[in-house]
Amino acid sequence: MGQYTSSREQVVSTCRALLERGYLKATEGNVSVRVPGEEAFAVTPSSYDYAKMRAADVVVLDFEQKRLEGALKASIEAGMHAAVYRERPDVNAIIHTHQAYASALALVRRPIPALFDEQVRFLGRAVEIIDYAPSGTSFLKRNVRRTVTSGANAFILANHGVLVLGGDAERAVFNMALLEKVALDYLLALMTDDKVRKVPAPIREIAFAQLRGDEKKLEKQLVAARKAAEAEATASAAGEAPAETASPAPSPTSAAGPSGAQLSGYAISAYPDVEAVSRSLQELVSRPLRPVKRDAMAGYLDYFETRCRRSKELTDEAGELIPGGVQHNLAFNYPFPLAIEKAEGARLWDVDGNEYIDFLQAGGPTVLGSNYAPLREQVAEVVAASGPVTGLFHEYELKLAQLVNRLMPSCEMFRMLGSGTESVMAAIRAARAHTGKKWVIKFGGAYHGWSDQMVYGLHVPGTWRFEAKGIPFGATARTREVFPNDLDALRRKLRQNKLMGGTAAVIVEPIGPESGTRPVPFEFNARVRELCDEFGALLVFDEVVTGFRLGLGGAQGYFGVRPDLTIFGKCITGGYPMAGGVGGRRDVMLSFASGIGGKSGERAYIGGTLSANPLSCAAGYFAITEMERTNAPVIAGRAGDRLTAGLCDIICRYRLPFVAYNQGSIVHLETAGVMLLDLKHPLRLAKELKPRKHMMEEMGAAYTASGMITLAGSRMYTSMADTDEVIDDALERFERVLSSVEGL
Ligand code: PMP
Repeated sequence: MGQYTSSREQVVSTCRALLERGYLKATEGNVSVRVPGEEAFAVTPSSYDYAKMRAADVVVLDFEQKRLEGALKASIEAGMHAAVYRERPDVNAIIHTHQAYASALALVRRPIPALFDEQVRFLGRAVEIIDYAPSGTSFLKRNVRRTVTSGANAFILANHGVLVLGGDAERAVFNMALLEKVALDYLLALMTDDKVRKVPAPIREIAFAQLRGDEKKLEKQLVAARKAAEAEATASAAGEAPAETASPAPSPTSAAGPSGAQLSGYAISAYPDVEAVSRSLQELVSRPLRPVKRDAMAGYLDYFETRCRRSKELTDEAGELIPGGVQHNLAFNYPFPLAIEKAEGARLWDVDGNEYIDFLQAGGPTVLGSNYAPLREQVAEVVAASGPVTGLFHEYELKLAQLVNRLMPSCEMFRMLGSGTESVMAAIRAARAHTGKKWVIKFGGAYHGWSDQMVYGLHVPGTWRFEAKGIPFGATARTREVFPNDLDALRRKLRQNKLMGGTAAVIVEPIGPESGTRPVPFEFNARVRELCDEFGALLVFDEVVTGFRLGLGGAQGYFGVRPDLTIFGKCITGGYPMAGGVGGRRDVMLSFASGIGGKSGERAYIGGTLSANPLSCAAGYFAITEMERTNAPVIAGRAGDRLTAGLCDIICRYRLPFVAYNQGSIVHLETAGVMLLDLKHPLRLAKELKPRKHMMEEMGAAYTASGMITLAGSRMYTSMADTDEVIDDALERFERVLSSVEGL
């Protein structure tokens, strides 16, 4: 293949993405991308089966439609694509499909007005209808050229599908998804009373101004891509390896680790059969909901009204001063949050004196159990001497760094920070500073904290910036997501990025997004490691939850995969405050040190007045040492096994569609399956997100009213304090709730 390989590959990967999401069907529609720096574009061939299409099948034409590469006949609409590229220098990718909802609006000639500010921000003031003209004619070309000057990115072609534009191919796919959603919403709204509420004109104009502002950034991106392409062309002409593969020294890679069953010292006794779990989860989301029967639910809710009065008073009052009345996103808060007064081992007590089994364990870090007394006493001694903070060095900083380095040898150096969120920010900064590359890739649905760049594809895979309210477009402009477990998509993205500044880091939750809610196969991390090495990207393990919970060697020890950087969070202090840190390769970690103590080079700036204070460092040191002495991760893992086995037995006996599985002390009990929805099935997502979420809240409330606090009604963290008696007691309580669901 020739000089346009990358553009042709981009067309293939864009078609794949569209096929996977169901936006392209069989041979309909056509897709093109602009060749950077030339008056040319790569376009799909005429009437081709896109599922079988290879890069060699893609045709490259100049704007006069003269063939530059490719033997097949170009799409009949190539002239329309050329017209758009000429008219709109900000557009670098075009998708034309026969998307059903928008096409229906074309049939009734209803352009979509400004319904959501997000729509205006990405698609334009309105989705206009382009007048009908037969395919491939100059009439159609003229109509299109005239209408696209509006600066919008989505249009309905009368009786002819839709036309979606983007600053790059990913953005075009994103716009396509957004159009699908907006068109469906508008259709549904029209079906009711036709009194559609629109975005007020001034707000519409503000949102539209943002879209135009993005153009400037895209232009810069294009210039950068052009330069990179030229540099690579010059380098390969001179016989050098392209910059991407010549970059940083590949780090040592181990093959995938042995099966969990053979690993001692780790919490996972047998790695879950991920295929079987995924099948059951898919089945769960394809079935109707089975919530708790209404009368039983009324009883559970009554518990809150009658037994949790003080909690209600306090948290009602909090609602006046604390936004939403609750400070922790995952804290149980339906029908209202509980105020907790006392915690010890496996138990919690609320302010009304009610007792609960604690399966939240502060969201994971307290593997020793809540408020573990020996730890509390040791920390108190240090604090009694130095106070919680001095702003100067303390010996426990060194002790903790030595401990981390001994348990996770990939952490050749370690820097303590204040939270998991901060640590992810720092790791990405170091990765970019060290590699000189731009992009960061995460897996859809994974949580890596709430920094601007990481509120992207949050919770629900494929949702890009759907949660990014208040975050400027530029902040996420270099973040990309791929669907969980999709290694081919990861390779495609790495390849795409290669010509556009390269990938600095791939960040993973090593047991799968949302602490294994979408579990990954055992080999997955080793494959990601290989891809990172192939493309010169750093592999970042987010071990905020897995850290010492999966075993003292973390997920990296369990899977036998050595990341370049490791993120620590709450796990690093055993649940005490100011908990975060980055560990990793010495050469990368030194990015944080440049400029300090006379060392040369530009520094990747990080900080934090209270980071690495004596309290946090001593807490971390004592917690982890105590976990090592007591074998806490393994004991907690066995409790997780017992709980899961009991839950599976209940599910089986009552023939419920629910799914229970565990990765050691991380136990998943999916009853509503809300976390399994994704944008590959947008209709289902739109229809079912709310009811499924509500059912999950109800289950959480039912468990709480039955004396058990879980994480959002679907996850349980076990601890060393969970004896067989605690677990058996919990199973009886779970059985009471699960046997009260509808259909039994
Ligand atoms: N990464 C993962 C995998 C997490 O689970 C979390 C928090 N639950 C974070 C990052 C963010 O950590 P923090 O809440 O300390 O900012």
